[in-house]
Amino acid sequence: MGVETLEPYDDDNIFARILRGEIPARPVYEDDYAFAFHDINPQAPTHVLVIPKGRYVSWADFSAKATDGEIAGFVRAVGAVARELGIEEGGYRLLANAGPNSHQEVPHLHVHIFGGKKLGPMLV
Ligand code: C5P
Repeated sequence: MGVETLEPYDDDNIFARILRGEIPARPVYEDDYAFAFHDINPQAPTHVLVIPKGRYVSWADFSAKATDGEIAGFVRAVGAVARELGIEEGGYRLLANAGPNSHQEVPHLHVHIFGGKKLGPMLV
């Protein structure tokens, strides 16, 4: 099973609904390319999700189909969120699940930002 099984983009996925303001979220950051909000089930003292505003299912979908401007804007937004959260000095971890093997639950690309404590070693 590959990431293709998540496509086509589902406009009713929960993050699409958050972007449309239909479901509440605790916002952290917003610009033309990205929206960031606190994860509803935090796995670290700081656990924020950054999502692109475009309709992309996963990193695979985004990296293949997004414009260079969207990709640059999104990557810069992830960095800006970490700066605004004040976790740059202590360090943080980025994670993006893509497709069934990774247990991606929500079919709209999201980058997790974990920080606020010394994190454990990465588990795969
Ligand atoms: O990478 P994955 O798809 O597994 O992560 C989805 C994340 O979205 C989970 O960490 C979950 O807690 C979060 N979530 C959320 N708000 C929702 C639904 C899910 O923060 N309304």
